[in-house]
Amino acid sequence: MHTVKKILLASPRGFCAGVARAVKAVEDTLEIFGAPVYVKHEIVHNTHVVAALHQKGAITIEDLKEAPEGAVVVFSAHGSPRAHYVEARARQVRLIDATCPLVTKVHLEVQRFLKDGYTIVYIGHKGHVEGIGVLGEVPEAKIPVVETVAGVAALAIGNPEKLVYLTQTTLSIDDTRAVIDALKERYPQIVAPPLEDICYATTNRQTAVKELAKVTELVLIVGSASSSNSTRLMETARAYGATAYLVNDVTALDPQWFVGVATVGISAGASAPEHLVQDIVEHIAIEGVVVEDFIVKPETMKFSEPLELMKIRAELNKNQA
Ligand code: SF4
Repeated sequence: MHTVKKILLASPRGFCAGVARAVKAVEDTLEIFGAPVYVKHEIVHNTHVVAALHQKGAITIEDLKEAPEGAVVVFSAHGSPRAHYVEARARQVRLIDATCPLVTKVHLEVQRFLKDGYTIVYIGHKGHVEGIGVLGEVPEAKIPVVETVAGVAALAIGNPEKLVYLTQTTLSIDDTRAVIDALKERYPQIVAPPLEDICYATTNRQTAVKELAKVTELVLIVGSASSSNSTRLMETARAYGATAYLVNDVTALDPQWFVGVATVGISAGASAPEHLVQDIVEHIAIEGVVVEDFIVKPETMKFSEPLELMKIRAELNKNQA
């Protein structure tokens, strides 16, 4: 028997507009074309979401060559390098692009700033699929990636007059601020992207978790280890004073975590479905435990479906008319 008296559920938490759009795009593609539908890279970084779509006939691949010529292929929410679009055309696959519009925005910034003669520094995690896509927008530009303040000191880009930084959408706001400050100190001429690249969902979830960490002893973040934004939420909770764990689902809970704890906060990464949160609530909320929403910011963002799906629907409607 644990000592928990109260559970606070962070709001907003869980699915963002980009993830909801990408997951629905795979479901709708399966409905329209039937199985199998190939998905290049995990559609979103959550093992439960990927497994559920796999059950319905989605096959996750890492290389387009794994999909037969002419197959239906969905590109994941994280974005893809230019070369993958070229390959998709060459292999004549029917492409549904579920790249989040806020990732596409960063791709477009790469094109625009290079065209305007800027040198770009990308702040992000080396090897993360989103960054691979962004840097692969114009690979010949060889955009350097910095992860940390130390990485800024190691940059070897000379001292270009026109310099801009862009960032991954799912970074820690606090850590990124320190990297940006270091960049500004070394390169006072550096400019920011016109609109913040760290997306609204990352910002809102981190803001909510900061407040949550101040009023709870233990914070559980629901999300997969591969999820960048979920991992950042766990780090944020720890940075703001709570003990925090990233849990993929209810089976990851350790009874020892709850010993002597009265208030537990729960949030979820942008790729984690709500039913995983509710499983955990049900597990902890034995008789007498109060469950409350901890609302920090209302969120209403919604994205329209990928253009290719809109066109397919229009074609189907025309044929039926
Ligand atoms: S976390 Fe942000 S950038 Fe990533 S899919 Fe969600 S809304 Fe888009």
